[in-house]
Amino acid sequence: MRMKTTGKAKKITQATPVSVITGAAGFLGSHLTDLLLKRGHKVIGIDNLVTGSVDNIAHLAGNRNLRFIEQDVTEFLFIDSPVDYVWHFASPASPIDYLELPIQTLKVGSLGTHKALGLAKSKGARFLLASTSEIYGDPLIHPQPEEYWGNVNTVGPRGCYDEAKRFAEAITLAYHREHKVETRIVRIFNTYGPRMRLHDGRVVPAFISQALKNKPLTVFGKGQQTRSFCYVSDLIEGIYRLMMSDYSLPVNIGNPHEMTVLEFAQEIIRLTGSRSRISYRPLPQDDPKQRKPDITKARKLLKWAPVVPLRQGLTQTIRYFKPRV
Ligand code: UDP
Repeated sequence: MRMKTTGKAKKITQATPVSVITGAAGFLGSHLTDLLLKRGHKVIGIDNLVTGSVDNIAHLAGNRNLRFIEQDVTEFLFIDSPVDYVWHFASPASPIDYLELPIQTLKVGSLGTHKALGLAKSKGARFLLASTSEIYGDPLIHPQPEEYWGNVNTVGPRGCYDEAKRFAEAITLAYHREHKVETRIVRIFNTYGPRMRLHDGRVVPAFISQALKNKPLTVFGKGQQTRSFCYVSDLIEGIYRLMMSDYSLPVNIGNPHEMTVLEFAQEIIRLTGSRSRISYRPLPQDDPKQRKPDITKARKLLKWAPVVPLRQGLTQTIRYFKPRV
């Protein structure tokens, strides 16, 4: 698919909100693009396509409210039109990606966040940072409330991602405090759905593709580590509400339905009707033992809670992966 990568922006009327999304061709960025277009925004999507793919926004080709710019967001961001909202989603986001791209991960979290904040400041736009539950590291408090400061190994394999996002939160609040930029920070917990990359190594695409091929599901460790999986439409709705709120400290968005990785593997085998067995592999270094969001804040401030049950979300996701494996 060809999408315009340069050219003059259309004149934007004051009444139509204009959103810039970094990482617009990624898993979450593309779903956010869909939602904002539905809600009447003009969207300027930026992505360098390192882990994103134009396939994720191909269905929007020809949409006059979307303009796509192929660019690395660590470089100066020049947008020749007014901007109301900046949504900073660009980053590698799976453990395999940031092991392969540690420097790009650190750069986009630090320099990229700086550029995106600079854009918001110069346009008088509101800014939202896509942060992560990884800032809690291997948490010693369970479930994790926003007040928990985390337990991160700075020099471990996940350090490049965790520390980049922790820096990103710090610079976001610095811009808020010093430059009075209106800022929001969402801490995203494990999210799944269509448009995840088949080979990004995360547990959802890994298990679904293995199950669909009747190959063994590779459970790391004994599979007793826990995760809490949120369907993408729930997550994006929560993030939208956060941007439209007036709260500038971090807010967890995720699904508190917690399960072990082994239980998750068994659920995938059931839902796909697969003949796969379980094959146990070594647990990667610093793999968090437990993770579950405390979403009291989101419930209270945003009147938000996830509504898509795991079974329903997984069925949609399996349908997406079936023709692709
Ligand atoms: N995992 C697994 N098998 C896989 C991929 C992942 O058992 O093939 C485990 C991984 O060790 C972790 C959990 O599933 O405990 C979630 O991993 P993911 O990479 O999706 O993201 P994380 O939550 O660790 O950032």
